[in-house]
Amino acid sequence: TDVRLDVITIFPDYLAPLDLSLIGKARREGLIDLRVHDLREHAHDRHRTVDDTPYGGGAGMVMKPEPWGEALDELVGGHHEEGAETGAVPHLIIPGPGGIPFTQQTARDLATEPWLAFACGRYEGIDERVYEEAAERMPVSVISLGDYVLNGGEVAVLSMVEAIARLIPGVIGNEQSLVEESHEDGLLEYPVYTKPASWRGREVPEILLSGNHGAIADWRHEQRLRRTAARRPDLLSD
Ligand code: SAM
Repeated sequence: TDVRLDVITIFPDYLAPLDLSLIGKARREGLIDLRVHDLREHAHDRHRTVDDTPYGGGAGMVMKPEPWGEALDELVGGHHEEGAETGAVPHLIIPGPGGIPFTQQTARDLATEPWLAFACGRYEGIDERVYEEAAERMPVSVISLGDYVLNGGEVAVLSMVEAIARLIPGVIGNEQSLVEESHEDGLLEYPVYTKPASWRGREVPEILLSGNHGAIADWRHEQRLRRTAARRPDLLSD
């Protein structure tokens, strides 16, 4: 396997789409070893409780540290145990709206790592001591999908895993398609067209039918600049 990915969540079913399409195929082909773990297996009371009220008051519930500690112990081979297996540890990614922004560059960086683990928070988030303790044992990054709030980390992990996995060699059949994409070189992608050449009175731009590859490349570059200026001027300013 090229990459191992572990996801810890109270909703394992949320990750089911990772069985589909290209990621599912990559899993079946053994390019990606993706394991989803149920946090509640590490909650030992009758109700399998994973949350409790916040110290200091305030709305909502906070995820308790003990189940998280145990789940991470299981991943890295035991809490402070002598000679814990190989000593290999994952890079732990904790999604959160207060994290550093996830970008194509983040995906590229993470796609080169052999082992990533994702901790999906719910409610008001995870007890801060879990971050601290984990950081003593493995690299930890808190990463945000964007400036908005989701109900849990699962959807963020679906997005991150998809963006990362498609960069792993062999996952996308045509690797050239990775090169010509938005965010690969700081510009948005040019508009694309397919057959028929005429549809509901709308014509495909002449130039694309011309067979003149130099002119087509120039036109596409021009389109990328225009589109980026219109939609994402922030990308042009730096
Ligand atoms: N009280 C937290 C705060 O303001 O930072 C928000 C908690 S949110 C309701 C519950 C969980 O959803 C978080 O622990 C995180 O796992 C996930 N989440 C929410 N928004 C996210 C975002 N923009 N990026 C990544 N994960 C997010």
